[in-house]
Amino acid sequence: MDGPAASGKSSVARLVAARLGRIYVNTGNMYRAMTWAVLERGVDPHDADAVRSAAADIRIECPVLDGQTQVSVNGRPLTTTDLNSDAVNAAVSLVARVPEVRERLVSDQRSLTALGPLVMEGRDIGSVVFPGSRLKFYIDASEEVRAARRHAQGHTDRVAERDRMDSTRKSSPLVIPEGAQYIDNSHLTLEQAVESVLGMIADGR
Ligand code: C5P
Repeated sequence: MDGPAASGKSSVARLVAARLGRIYVNTGNMYRAMTWAVLERGVDPHDADAVRSAAADIRIECPVLDGQTQVSVNGRPLTTTDLNSDAVNAAVSLVARVPEVRERLVSDQRSLTALGPLVMEGRDIGSVVFPGSRLKFYIDASEEVRAARRHAQGHTDRVAERDRMDSTRKSSPLVIPEGAQYIDNSHLTLEQAVESVLGMIADGR
């Protein structure tokens, strides 16, 4: 499942995974963990060379707890507060545009298939990580709805700016993957969006 920031894809993916008995993987948290670690080392996220060399020593692990992958940095588990801080929100798209960071994390994401069947969500899952997947979804919502959702969650997050960077970067930008089912989640309840995905899966689309 792919889609822009705050489109609701994480909530949909988590519930779809639970209903199907699959492991839920939020790949945004892997990029957030890398960003948290880069910032902790005092690296300027605008400096791609510095990010690249810092990232070489940063190991992201994804242990499974309650059917979902968690994220640890060099053995230290990160909390939701760590991953969603204003500093991480502001820097994550800068770190995620560095090709070497992406190569590392894409390789880690592919190896997670060893855990069993997954529901994985992010920005490039259907286009780059698993282009051969039979079941691809793109969850979208209007910019106003997405900004309102983030605001309601209490985050200071310039959603439009993050989407601009994610969609225009050279290395695997956010796109609607070939063969993806498009769902406009602006005016659906969570249950309606989940039912829509499960219905398409049942239809074998
Ligand atoms: O999903 P979430 O909004 O938490 O993702 C945070 C950021 O991580 C995105 O804005 C994007 O820059 C990056 N990301 C990515 N590729 C993914 C998942 C997330 O570049 N597969």
